[in-house]
Amino acid sequence: MKRLAVLGQPISHSRSPAMQSAALEALGLGAEWSYEAIEMPPADFAELTRALPTEGFVGANVTIPHKEAALEIAEDASPAATEIGAANTLSFLDDRVRADNTDAPGLIAALPGPPSGKRALVLGAGGSARAAVWALTRQGARVEVWNRTAERADEIVRDLARSGEGTEAEGRLAPVSADQVRAAAYDLVVNCTAVGLPDAAEDPFDQLPLGPEQLGPETTLVDLVYGGAETRLVGEARSRGALTVDGLEVLVRQGAESLRIWTGLEPPLDVMRDAARSG
Ligand code: NAP
Repeated sequence: MKRLAVLGQPISHSRSPAMQSAALEALGLGAEWSYEAIEMPPADFAELTRALPTEGFVGANVTIPHKEAALEIAEDASPAATEIGAANTLSFLDDRVRADNTDAPGLIAALPGPPSGKRALVLGAGGSARAAVWALTRQGARVEVWNRTAERADEIVRDLARSGEGTEAEGRLAPVSADQVRAAAYDLVVNCTAVGLPDAAEDPFDQLPLGPEQLGPETTLVDLVYGGAETRLVGEARSRGALTVDGLEVLVRQGAESLRIWTGLEPPLDVMRDAARSG
């Protein structure tokens, strides 16, 4: 049996086991491959993860709070993982651990069209924002980053404007203030904050610098946040005629890219979507 897992803490809510197991089944690999969730405390991450290959594991997805540690334990990493500074996909090869970041290509694959030349706003400066900023700048978008704690937005811009081949990203990547966001019109807005869970009491428009009127037919809204129901941001944008991409679609796309890395096969997107959405 070739075993796969998602490693995180907490992990019981993860939709990845249902989504990836359904995909393996649809690919005819259900008897040979398995996918499970493993709760992993940060203190034990390196030791437990290094031991996984001896238990038949060939790969793992990695989620909060282990994405930076996953990159650190790998002997070999993709340019995306190295430049973003985090990995969400590990492959246990014969002689080494390989780290990839599929959050970045997953976001791009989830978009309705190429972001090249578009004016994009990334809300947030945590792990998912770093991947989004990296992906969008590398795809030729003009990217502005707002974060509640402004210094963290400055830090992302400093790190990613100059990483790798990315000197070309200079001039197309900048931090912005709340006032600058309110005065702007964006082609693409990506919510990478933890704000706006469907059952949250707070109104996301009170916590973010964006007004509902900025989400119209000219705008694509991507909300990485997902829960049991539609998020307020997605609902508002959809009702105003914006194109919307919800967090489950982004989850499916990053999972599909991970599956492609491990199996070399074309992921069954519709099967993965159905499984993720029925979770
Ligand atoms: P993270 O590293 O913990 O970053 C959290 C971000 O949210 C920070 O920028 C933080 O700002 C901001 N924030 C938190 N509370 C806020 C508030 N009340 N008002 C304004 N900003 C606030 O988290 P992450 O890993 O980037 O994940 C962010 C969200 O994306 C989570 O909801 C996560 O579940 C979701 N996500 C979804 C996918 C997917 O596949 N769909 C993938 C990854 C993450 P400060 O810096 O000021 O604290």
